[in-house]
This record gives sequence, C-alpha cells and structure tokens, in this order.
Amino acid sequence: MIDFDFHCHSNISDGTLTPTELVQRAHGRGVRAMALTDHDDVAGLSEARGVAEALGMTFINGVEISVTWRSHTLHIVGLGIDMNYAPLVSGLQGVRSGRGLRAQKMSDELAKAGVGGVLAGAYKYAGNVNMIGRTHFARYLVEAGHCRDVKSVFRRYLAKGKPGYVPHQWANLADAISWIKGAGGIAIIAHPGRYMVGKHSMGKKTMQELLAEFVALGGGAVEVVTGSHSQEQYAEFARYAEQFNLLASCGSDFHGPDESYRDLGRLPDLPLICRPVWTQLGVQ
Ligand code: AMP
Ligand code: MN
Ligand code: MN
Ligand code: MN
Repeated sequence: MIDFDFHCHSNISDGTLTPTELVQRAHGRGVRAMALTDHDDVAGLSEARGVAEALGMTFINGVEISVTWRSHTLHIVGLGIDMNYAPLVSGLQGVRSGRGLRAQKMSDELAKAGVGGVLAGAYKYAGNVNMIGRTHFARYLVEAGHCRDVKSVFRRYLAKGKPGYVPHQWANLADAISWIKGAGGIAIIAHPGRYMVGKHSMGKKTMQELLAEFVALGGGAVEVVTGSHSQEQYAEFARYAEQFNLLASCGSDFHGPDESYRDLGRLPDLPLICRPVWTQLGVQ
C-alpha cells in the first residue's frame, strides 16, 4: 500500500471539502505525502500546505489543467510547481475565464431539454465562482430530484453528446506542459484509462500518438494507479510508461466522501516495472 496521494480536489474546484478539511482527512487516513490538484486553479495550495506541514506531512504543490487535444478533453496534472510562476498564473486564469459563459450555455441547453432554471442552483455548489463546472450542475440536479446521484446526471445530461453538454476549448497541450515545466514541475497525464472508455473515446493507436506527443513536448509521467483505473489498467499503463520512458504517478482523484471512486490514500502499490514519480519530487 502507498501512503502518498498526488491527486485530489478541494472546493476551490469541484471537491466538497475545504483545503483544510481535505488535508485533515488525508492525515487521518495515514497519508504522509500529498498534493492538492484542483482543476485550473492554485488558490487552495497555501491553506493546504499550512495545514499539512503543521500535521508533519509532506506537501507538494499541484494543479490539474483542462486541455483540448484533437477532439478530446484531457487532464494534465502538474506536480512540484511554483504556484507564482507568472505564465502559469496567467495561463490558468485564461483557462478559467470561459467557465462562466459555458455554464450559462449549459443552463440554456438543459432548459431546452426540459430542465429549467439550473444556473443559480449550480452556482450554490461552487465554492469558487470562477471554477463553476459540470460537477456543480450535477450536484444541483441531484438535489432537485432529476437523478439519483452525480454519476447518473453525467450519464443522462452532462457527458459528451448529452443534452447539457457544451463543447469547450480548453488549454492546448503544449501550453499546459510549458506552464508546468516552466514552473519547475512535472507534467503528468491524469487517469489515461478514462480517455479510452465510452462512445467518444480514443483507441490504442491514438493513445500511443498522445503519449509520443506528450513525451516530445516534455511531459514526464502518467498516472498508473488512480481511482478510476481497474487492476488491468494499472498493468496496461505501467507498460505504456515503460515503453515511453515515463515515470508513474498515483492518486485517488478524491472529490468528496460521497461521490468518489476512492477515498484518500491507501492506494495499491505501483506495478514493479514502474519508476515512481515521487523520486523526482523529493518524497521518500
Ligand atoms: P468540467 O471541468 O466542468 O468539464 O468538469 C469535469 C469534472 O466532472 C471532472 O473533473 C469530474 O470531477 C467530473 N466528471 C466527469 N465525468 C464524470 C462522470 N462520468 N461521473 C462523475 N463525474 C464526472
Ligand atoms: Mn473533478
Ligand atoms: Mn481529471
Ligand atoms: Mn481530478
């Protein structure tokens, strides 16, 4: 078992806990080293670091950047970043800036599909108005009785091709990697297995093209152990990491006690062929 967790969310993006509550929960579950990786925002890092260090934990600055690559939305985690690096700060600001208008459009599309007046309800769930996103809509649609849980809302309304899905242009891959690398961090492909399931997913050939392009642009690692991967996917992405000479990362992708694939920490060991990313983060 690994007592590190390098991927999780607070209510600065779409988690339900504050940065303080999140770190306290991780500590309570035996996590010794952690990164907070909110979507497109670093505003929770100072608070989280303060709490983590007071509890004797190792804290790594992180972020999870939304990227559009070809027709796919990808998430690129940055670990070990200087959160004040100006191109990263302004780059993230740019990525966040389209979210308000997108939310308005999502609400309009849902109204056309017969689900009216959700915008204000979704904003109630956004701890950070600049980071309004699909998860906040999903929580409100559950509250309003449209679906039984967040996962069902995505399936019925918010996944690509569904009535409330609004296509969006996020950062490009080269920019996201250069912000992370320029900030002294390591760029990591988050939960790669998720890009290979479902109707609009990428096949093996496209995944290999992505990995090759990612390496060429200076990417450093892939998540091998993550909450949404199966055992088979641990092995599959361990092999890809070896093949493309990438390091392997691990994280729960925890969003909250009631709606995550996995709770914080206590992650299964990386397959033996992996070279762990934390050797480059000064964590042991
Ligand atoms: P956004 O950045 O607004 O498009 O929201 C993306 C977030 O929605 C992801 O980070 C997940 O937290 C959540 N999400 C995406 N797909 C699903 C799904 N099928 N079930 C539950 N949550 C999902
Ligand atoms: Mn999320
Ligand atoms: Mn993600
Ligand atoms: Mn995540």
